[in-house]
Amino acid sequence: MPQVVPSFERIGEENAFAVLARASALAEQGRDIVNLGIGQPDMPTPPHIVEAGIKALRDGHHGYTPAIGITPLREAVARDIQRRHRVEVSPDSVMIVPGGKVTMFMAILMFGAPGVEILYPDPGFPIYRSMIAFTGATPVPVPIREENGFAFSAEETLSLVTERTRLLIVNSPANPTGGVTPKAEIDALVEGLAAYPDIAVLSDEIYGTMTYDGQAHHSLLAYEGIRDRLIYLDGASKTYAMTGWRLGWSVWPKPFYDAARKLAVNSHSCVNAATQWAGIAALDGPQDCVAAMVAEFDRRRSLVVEGLNALPNVSCITPKGAFYAFPNITETGWRAKTLAKALLEEAGVAVIGGPDFGVYGEGYLRLSYANSPENITRALERMKTFLARTSGH
Ligand code: PLP
Repeated sequence: MPQVVPSFERIGEENAFAVLARASALAEQGRDIVNLGIGQPDMPTPPHIVEAGIKALRDGHHGYTPAIGITPLREAVARDIQRRHRVEVSPDSVMIVPGGKVTMFMAILMFGAPGVEILYPDPGFPIYRSMIAFTGATPVPVPIREENGFAFSAEETLSLVTERTRLLIVNSPANPTGGVTPKAEIDALVEGLAAYPDIAVLSDEIYGTMTYDGQAHHSLLAYEGIRDRLIYLDGASKTYAMTGWRLGWSVWPKPFYDAARKLAVNSHSCVNAATQWAGIAALDGPQDCVAAMVAEFDRRRSLVVEGLNALPNVSCITPKGAFYAFPNITETGWRAKTLAKALLEEAGVAVIGGPDFGVYGEGYLRLSYANSPENITRALERMKTFLARTSGH
Protein backbone atom coordinates (compact mmCIF):
# COMPACT_ATOMS: atom_id res chain seq x y z
CA MET A 1 0.00 0.00 0.00
CA PRO A 2 1.39 3.43 -0.85
CA GLN A 3 2.29 5.47 2.16
CA VAL A 4 0.13 8.57 1.78
CA VAL A 5 0.77 10.02 5.21
CA PRO A 6 4.43 10.95 5.63
CA SER A 7 6.13 9.84 8.80
CA PHE A 8 6.18 12.48 11.48
CA GLU A 9 7.90 10.25 14.00
CA ARG A 10 10.59 12.80 14.59
CA ILE A 11 8.18 15.57 15.47
CA GLY A 12 6.89 15.55 19.02
CA GLU A 13 3.99 17.21 20.72
CA GLU A 14 3.74 19.03 23.96
CA ASN A 15 2.81 16.17 26.28
CA ALA A 16 1.31 18.82 28.50
CA PHE A 17 -1.49 19.05 25.96
CA ALA A 18 -2.40 15.40 26.67
CA VAL A 19 -2.74 16.22 30.37
CA LEU A 20 -4.86 19.24 29.56
CA ALA A 21 -7.07 17.19 27.22
CA ARG A 22 -7.56 14.55 29.94
CA ALA A 23 -8.34 17.29 32.48
CA SER A 24 -11.00 18.72 30.13
CA ALA A 25 -12.44 15.25 29.47
CA LEU A 26 -12.75 14.59 33.21
CA ALA A 27 -14.34 18.01 33.74
CA GLU A 28 -16.84 17.24 30.96
CA GLN A 29 -17.74 14.02 32.80
CA GLY A 30 -18.67 16.24 35.74
CA ARG A 31 -15.47 15.80 37.77
CA ASP A 32 -14.31 18.86 39.70
CA ILE A 33 -10.79 19.45 38.34
CA VAL A 34 -8.48 22.25 39.45
CA ASN A 35 -6.23 22.97 36.51
CA LEU A 36 -2.72 24.14 37.37
CA GLY A 37 -1.45 22.60 34.16
CA ILE A 38 -2.10 25.33 31.67
CA GLY A 39 0.57 27.93 30.91
CA GLN A 40 -1.42 31.00 30.11
CA PRO A 41 -2.60 34.05 32.07
CA ASP A 42 -6.09 33.54 33.44
CA MET A 43 -6.88 37.25 33.00
CA PRO A 44 -8.63 38.59 29.91
CA THR A 45 -6.75 40.75 27.40
CA PRO A 46 -6.90 44.38 28.69
CA PRO A 47 -9.96 46.16 27.24
CA HIS A 48 -8.06 48.93 25.39
CA ILE A 49 -6.24 46.23 23.41
CA VAL A 50 -9.48 44.39 22.61
CA GLU A 51 -11.04 47.68 21.48
CA ALA A 52 -8.10 48.39 19.18
CA GLY A 53 -8.59 44.98 17.55
CA ILE A 54 -12.31 45.59 17.06
CA LYS A 55 -11.68 49.09 15.69
CA ALA A 56 -9.16 47.68 13.20
CA LEU A 57 -11.82 45.30 11.89
CA ARG A 58 -14.37 48.15 11.68
CA ASP A 59 -11.79 50.33 9.92
CA GLY A 60 -11.45 47.71 7.21
CA HIS A 61 -8.12 46.07 8.04
CA HIS A 62 -9.21 42.82 6.47
CA GLY A 63 -6.51 42.03 3.94
CA TYR A 64 -3.03 40.58 3.86
CA THR A 65 -0.29 42.70 5.35
CA PRO A 66 3.40 42.52 4.45
CA ALA A 67 4.81 39.16 5.62
CA ILE A 68 7.18 40.95 8.01
CA GLY A 69 4.26 42.80 9.66
CA ILE A 70 2.91 46.33 9.40
CA THR A 71 5.44 49.13 9.81
CA PRO A 72 3.73 50.88 12.78
CA LEU A 73 3.81 47.64 14.77
CA ARG A 74 7.46 46.96 13.91
CA GLU A 75 8.20 50.52 15.04
CA ALA A 76 6.25 49.95 18.27
CA VAL A 77 8.31 46.81 18.93
CA ALA A 78 11.53 48.81 18.40
CA ARG A 79 10.25 51.40 20.93
CA ASP A 80 9.36 48.62 23.42
CA ILE A 81 12.89 47.23 23.13
CA GLN A 82 14.35 50.71 23.64
CA ARG A 83 12.11 51.31 26.69
CA ARG A 84 12.69 47.94 28.35
CA HIS A 85 16.20 46.92 27.33
CA ARG A 86 17.72 50.32 26.45
CA VAL A 87 18.78 48.96 23.09
CA GLU A 88 18.34 50.60 19.70
CA VAL A 89 17.08 48.20 17.02
CA SER A 90 15.91 49.10 13.54
CA PRO A 91 12.23 48.34 12.80
CA ASP A 92 13.66 46.72 9.65
CA SER A 93 15.19 43.98 11.80
CA VAL A 94 11.85 43.28 13.52
CA MET A 95 9.59 40.53 12.24
CA ILE A 96 5.96 40.11 13.33
CA VAL A 97 4.98 36.44 13.67
CA PRO A 98 1.91 34.47 14.79
CA GLY A 99 3.19 33.73 18.31
CA GLY A 100 6.51 33.16 20.00
CA LYS A 101 6.53 29.56 18.81
CA VAL A 102 6.86 30.65 15.20
CA THR A 103 10.14 32.44 15.85
CA MET A 104 11.60 29.27 17.39
CA PHE A 105 10.16 27.17 14.56
CA MET A 106 11.85 29.40 11.97
CA ALA A 107 15.16 29.64 13.83
CA ILE A 108 15.41 25.89 14.39
CA LEU A 109 14.44 25.14 10.76
CA MET A 110 17.06 27.61 9.62
CA PHE A 111 19.96 25.99 11.48
CA GLY A 112 18.87 22.41 12.04
CA ALA A 113 20.12 19.68 9.68
CA PRO A 114 21.62 16.21 9.99
CA GLY A 115 25.13 16.43 11.42
CA VAL A 116 24.38 19.65 13.30
CA GLU A 117 24.05 19.91 17.09
CA ILE A 118 21.71 22.34 18.76
CA LEU A 119 21.94 23.14 22.47
CA TYR A 120 18.69 23.71 24.34
CA PRO A 121 17.62 23.96 27.99
CA ASP A 122 16.42 20.79 29.76
CA PRO A 123 14.00 21.00 31.48
CA GLY A 124 12.72 23.46 28.93
CA PHE A 125 9.88 24.32 26.59
CA PRO A 126 9.24 20.95 24.84
CA ILE A 127 9.05 22.37 21.34
CA TYR A 128 12.78 23.10 21.30
CA ARG A 129 13.73 19.44 21.41
CA SER A 130 10.88 18.34 19.20
CA MET A 131 11.70 20.79 16.41
CA ILE A 132 15.44 20.12 16.61
CA ALA A 133 14.80 16.40 16.19
CA PHE A 134 12.43 17.08 13.29
CA THR A 135 15.16 18.83 11.31
CA GLY A 136 17.44 15.80 11.72
CA ALA A 137 19.83 17.79 13.92
CA THR A 138 21.01 16.32 17.22
CA PRO A 139 19.33 17.85 20.27
CA VAL A 140 21.95 18.42 23.00
CA PRO A 141 20.31 19.17 26.34
CA VAL A 142 21.85 21.82 28.59
CA PRO A 143 20.95 20.68 32.13
CA ILE A 144 19.11 23.36 34.09
CA ARG A 145 19.78 22.55 37.72
CA GLU A 146 17.91 23.29 40.91
CA GLU A 147 21.19 23.94 42.74
CA ASN A 148 21.76 26.86 40.33
CA GLY A 149 18.30 28.25 41.06
CA PHE A 150 17.25 26.84 37.66
CA ALA A 151 19.49 29.39 35.92
CA PHE A 152 21.77 28.59 32.98
CA SER A 153 25.30 27.73 33.95
CA ALA A 154 27.63 29.42 31.46
CA GLU A 155 30.37 26.93 32.25
CA GLU A 156 28.23 23.85 31.72
CA THR A 157 26.63 25.29 28.57
CA LEU A 158 30.01 26.09 27.01
CA SER A 159 31.37 22.66 27.96
CA LEU A 160 28.76 21.11 25.64
CA VAL A 161 29.85 23.04 22.54
CA THR A 162 31.47 20.97 19.77
CA GLU A 163 32.58 21.85 16.24
CA ARG A 164 29.11 20.74 15.10
CA THR A 165 27.16 23.17 17.33
CA ARG A 166 25.26 25.73 15.23
CA LEU A 167 22.59 27.09 17.55
CA LEU A 168 22.21 27.67 21.29
CA ILE A 169 18.73 28.25 22.71
CA VAL A 170 18.55 30.30 25.90
CA ASN A 171 15.36 30.93 27.87
CA SER A 172 15.12 33.30 30.82
CA PRO A 173 12.78 33.78 32.66
CA ALA A 174 12.14 30.13 32.05
CA ASN A 175 9.34 27.69 31.45
CA PRO A 176 8.91 25.26 33.27
CA THR A 177 11.11 26.22 36.22
CA GLY A 178 10.54 29.94 36.73
CA GLY A 179 14.35 30.30 36.78
CA VAL A 180 15.92 33.63 35.88
CA THR A 181 19.55 33.63 34.73
CA PRO A 182 21.51 36.34 36.56
CA LYS A 183 23.52 38.95 34.69
CA ALA A 184 26.90 37.56 35.77
CA GLU A 185 26.05 34.20 34.19
CA ILE A 186 24.86 35.83 30.94
CA ASP A 187 28.03 37.94 30.87
CA ALA A 188 30.11 34.75 31.21
CA LEU A 189 28.08 32.95 28.55
CA VAL A 190 28.42 35.77 26.03
CA GLU A 191 32.11 36.09 26.81
CA GLY A 192 32.60 32.37 26.22
CA LEU A 193 30.65 32.48 22.96
CA ALA A 194 33.17 34.94 21.55
CA ALA A 195 35.37 31.88 20.88
CA TYR A 196 32.63 30.34 18.72
CA PRO A 197 31.53 32.91 16.12
CA ASP A 198 29.67 30.26 14.08
CA ILE A 199 27.12 29.56 16.80
CA ALA A 200 23.85 31.49 16.50
CA VAL A 201 21.86 32.20 19.66
CA LEU A 202 18.09 32.14 20.05
CA SER A 203 17.06 34.04 23.17
CA ASP A 204 13.52 33.20 24.19
CA GLU A 205 12.41 36.16 26.31
CA ILE A 206 8.66 35.61 26.14
CA TYR A 207 8.44 35.96 29.96
CA GLY A 208 10.76 38.99 30.03
CA THR A 209 8.28 41.26 31.81
CA MET A 210 7.61 38.72 34.57
CA THR A 211 10.28 38.81 37.25
CA TYR A 212 9.90 39.17 41.02
CA ASP A 213 11.78 40.17 44.17
CA GLY A 214 13.45 43.03 42.30
CA GLN A 215 15.21 40.50 40.05
CA ALA A 216 15.97 42.28 36.77
CA HIS A 217 15.54 40.63 33.39
CA HIS A 218 18.70 40.98 31.30
CA SER A 219 18.05 40.76 27.60
CA LEU A 220 20.70 39.19 25.41
CA LEU A 221 19.96 42.02 22.97
CA ALA A 222 21.99 44.27 25.23
CA TYR A 223 25.20 42.44 24.31
CA GLU A 224 26.81 44.12 21.29
CA GLY A 225 29.26 41.24 20.88
CA ILE A 226 26.64 38.72 19.73
CA ARG A 227 24.12 41.00 18.03
CA ASP A 228 25.23 39.79 14.59
CA ARG A 229 24.08 36.24 15.43
CA LEU A 230 21.34 36.79 17.99
CA ILE A 231 17.67 36.02 17.40
CA TYR A 232 15.49 37.71 20.00
CA LEU A 233 12.10 36.10 20.65
CA ASP A 234 9.26 37.92 22.39
CA GLY A 235 5.53 38.39 21.97
CA ALA A 236 2.21 39.45 23.39
CA SER A 237 0.93 36.06 24.59
CA LYS A 238 2.05 36.19 28.20
CA THR A 239 2.75 39.90 28.83
CA TYR A 240 -0.62 41.11 27.55
CA ALA A 241 -2.67 37.93 28.17
CA MET A 242 -3.11 37.42 24.41
CA THR A 243 -2.32 33.73 23.88
CA GLY A 244 -5.24 33.16 21.50
CA TRP A 245 -4.62 36.23 19.35
CA ARG A 246 -1.33 34.73 18.09
CA LEU A 247 1.07 37.63 18.12
CA GLY A 248 4.82 37.42 18.53
CA TRP A 249 7.81 39.39 17.36
CA SER A 250 11.47 38.78 16.85
CA VAL A 251 14.66 40.63 15.97
CA TRP A 252 17.08 39.05 13.51
CA PRO A 253 20.46 39.95 12.05
CA LYS A 254 20.16 40.81 8.35
CA PRO A 255 20.96 37.45 6.64
CA PHE A 256 18.78 35.54 9.09
CA TYR A 257 16.03 38.13 8.64
CA ASP A 258 15.84 37.54 4.91
CA ALA A 259 15.56 33.80 5.47
CA ALA A 260 12.85 34.29 8.12
CA ARG A 261 10.90 36.54 5.75
CA LYS A 262 11.00 33.81 3.12
CA LEU A 263 9.75 31.26 5.64
CA ALA A 264 6.87 33.61 6.51
CA VAL A 265 5.96 34.07 2.83
CA ASN A 266 6.07 30.29 2.38
CA SER A 267 3.85 29.59 5.38
CA HIS A 268 1.52 31.92 7.27
CA SER A 269 1.80 34.94 4.87
CA CYS A 270 1.24 37.41 7.71
CA VAL A 271 -0.29 37.77 11.16
CA ASN A 272 -4.01 38.54 11.24
CA ALA A 273 -4.22 42.28 10.48
CA ALA A 274 -6.56 43.22 13.36
CA THR A 275 -4.29 41.40 15.80
CA GLN A 276 -1.36 43.51 14.59
CA TRP A 277 -3.28 46.75 15.28
CA ALA A 278 -4.21 45.42 18.72
CA GLY A 279 -0.49 44.78 19.26
CA ILE A 280 0.27 48.47 18.68
CA ALA A 281 -2.28 49.37 21.38
CA ALA A 282 -0.64 46.84 23.69
CA LEU A 283 2.91 48.15 23.21
CA ASP A 284 2.19 51.88 22.96
CA GLY A 285 -0.68 51.96 25.47
CA PRO A 286 -0.52 52.18 29.27
CA GLN A 287 1.67 49.51 30.84
CA ASP A 288 -0.03 49.54 34.24
CA CYS A 289 -2.09 46.51 33.16
CA VAL A 290 1.18 44.56 32.90
CA ALA A 291 2.37 45.78 36.29
CA ALA A 292 -0.98 44.82 37.86
CA MET A 293 -0.85 41.34 36.35
CA VAL A 294 2.72 40.76 37.51
CA ALA A 295 1.83 41.99 41.03
CA GLU A 296 -1.08 39.53 41.08
CA PHE A 297 1.18 36.66 39.96
CA ASP A 298 3.64 37.66 42.67
CA ARG A 299 0.96 37.24 45.36
CA ARG A 300 -0.02 33.86 43.98
CA ARG A 301 3.64 32.84 43.77
CA SER A 302 3.97 33.28 47.55
CA LEU A 303 0.81 31.26 48.08
CA VAL A 304 1.94 28.40 45.88
CA VAL A 305 5.53 28.23 47.18
CA GLU A 306 4.41 28.33 50.81
CA GLY A 307 1.76 25.68 50.15
CA LEU A 308 4.14 23.38 48.30
CA ASN A 309 6.75 23.55 51.03
CA ALA A 310 4.07 22.53 53.53
CA LEU A 311 3.37 19.30 51.62
CA PRO A 312 4.91 16.12 53.00
CA ASN A 313 8.32 15.38 51.39
CA VAL A 314 8.02 18.20 48.84
CA SER A 315 10.36 21.17 48.58
CA CYS A 316 10.14 24.13 46.24
CA ILE A 317 12.64 26.90 45.68
CA THR A 318 11.12 30.30 45.09
CA PRO A 319 10.87 30.92 41.35
CA LYS A 320 12.17 34.33 40.27
CA GLY A 321 10.18 34.72 37.07
CA ALA A 322 7.37 33.58 34.73
CA PHE A 323 4.33 32.01 36.45
CA TYR A 324 5.49 28.48 37.21
CA ALA A 325 6.68 26.65 40.31
CA PHE A 326 8.81 23.54 39.90
CA PRO A 327 8.73 21.60 43.17
CA ASN A 328 11.13 18.76 43.92
CA ILE A 329 9.15 15.59 44.68
CA THR A 330 11.96 13.01 44.80
CA GLU A 331 11.49 12.48 48.55
CA THR A 332 7.87 11.42 48.03
CA GLY A 333 9.07 8.24 46.33
CA TRP A 334 6.84 8.90 43.31
CA ARG A 335 8.04 9.11 39.74
CA ALA A 336 6.97 12.55 38.53
CA LYS A 337 4.67 11.50 35.68
CA THR A 338 3.03 8.77 37.76
CA LEU A 339 2.35 11.31 40.48
CA ALA A 340 0.96 13.84 38.00
CA LYS A 341 -1.37 11.18 36.60
CA ALA A 342 -2.50 10.04 40.05
CA LEU A 343 -3.10 13.62 41.15
CA LEU A 344 -5.32 14.20 38.13
CA GLU A 345 -7.26 10.93 38.30
CA GLU A 346 -7.55 10.58 42.06
CA ALA A 347 -7.28 14.09 43.50
CA GLY A 348 -8.69 16.18 40.65
CA VAL A 349 -5.59 18.38 40.29
CA ALA A 350 -3.96 18.87 36.89
CA VAL A 351 -0.20 19.48 37.02
CA ILE A 352 2.52 18.47 34.55
CA GLY A 353 5.23 15.91 35.28
CA GLY A 354 8.73 17.36 34.95
CA PRO A 355 9.86 14.73 32.37
CA ASP A 356 7.42 16.30 29.89
CA PHE A 357 10.00 19.09 29.76
CA GLY A 358 13.05 16.85 29.33
CA VAL A 359 15.01 14.10 31.02
CA TYR A 360 16.39 16.46 33.66
CA GLY A 361 12.81 17.18 34.71
CA GLU A 362 12.48 13.81 36.50
CA GLY A 363 11.79 14.37 40.19
CA TYR A 364 9.78 17.54 39.64
CA LEU A 365 6.27 18.72 38.86
CA ARG A 366 5.30 21.93 37.09
CA LEU A 367 2.49 23.97 38.57
CA SER A 368 1.23 27.07 36.82
CA TYR A 369 0.05 29.70 39.27
CA ALA A 370 -1.80 31.57 36.54
CA ASN A 371 -4.96 30.57 38.38
CA SER A 372 -7.11 32.13 41.10
CA PRO A 373 -5.86 32.11 44.71
CA GLU A 374 -8.97 30.08 45.61
CA ASN A 375 -8.12 27.40 43.05
CA ILE A 376 -4.47 27.36 44.07
CA THR A 377 -5.49 26.86 47.70
CA ARG A 378 -7.93 24.10 46.75
CA ALA A 379 -5.30 22.34 44.65
CA LEU A 380 -2.73 22.46 47.44
CA GLU A 381 -5.23 21.11 49.98
CA ARG A 382 -6.06 18.23 47.68
CA MET A 383 -2.39 17.51 47.07
CA LYS A 384 -1.72 17.52 50.80
CA THR A 385 -4.50 15.05 51.52
CA PHE A 386 -3.44 12.85 48.63
CA LEU A 387 0.24 12.77 49.58
CA ALA A 388 -0.55 12.15 53.26
CA ARG A 389 -2.84 9.26 52.26
CA THR A 390 -0.39 7.68 49.85
CA SER A 391 2.89 8.20 51.71
CA GLY A 392 4.93 5.01 51.57
CA HIS A 393 2.71 3.91 48.66
N1 PLP B 1 8.51 30.22 24.73
C1 PLP B 1 8.21 29.71 25.94
C2 PLP B 1 9.32 29.48 26.90
C3 PLP B 1 6.89 29.40 26.28
O1 PLP B 1 6.61 28.90 27.48
C4 PLP B 1 5.88 29.61 25.32
C5 PLP B 1 4.47 29.26 25.60
O2 PLP B 1 4.13 28.64 26.56
C6 PLP B 1 6.24 30.12 24.08
C7 PLP B 1 7.55 30.43 23.82
C8 PLP B 1 5.23 30.27 22.98
O3 PLP B 1 4.43 31.37 23.09
P1 PLP B 1 3.29 31.66 22.02
O4 PLP B 1 2.00 31.24 22.64
O5 PLP B 1 3.38 33.15 21.81
O6 PLP B 1 3.58 30.92 20.78
